[in-house]
Amino acid sequence: MMRVPAIDVGECVDCEACLDLCPTVFRRNDAGYIEVIELPEYSEEEVEEAIKNCPGDCIAWEEL
Ligand code: SF4
Repeated sequence: MMRVPAIDVGECVDCEACLDLCPTVFRRNDAGYIEVIELPEYSEEEVEEAIKNCPGDCIAWEEL
């Protein structure tokens, strides 16, 4: 089982906080939405920082 961050794009207010705080994990895709970069593992600390600072409260861990 792996923990990966996921974004609820419907709630995203496009503030770019996650891009600023955690550019290794989050990026803007060609469609203009924020998405999670596929990585073999994710830094708990960095993702938690993004979760804490996301004003839309739309980043959460998912178990895969
Ligand atoms: S921090 Fe949250 S609201 Fe802001 S761009 Fe990232 S996902 Fe969207």
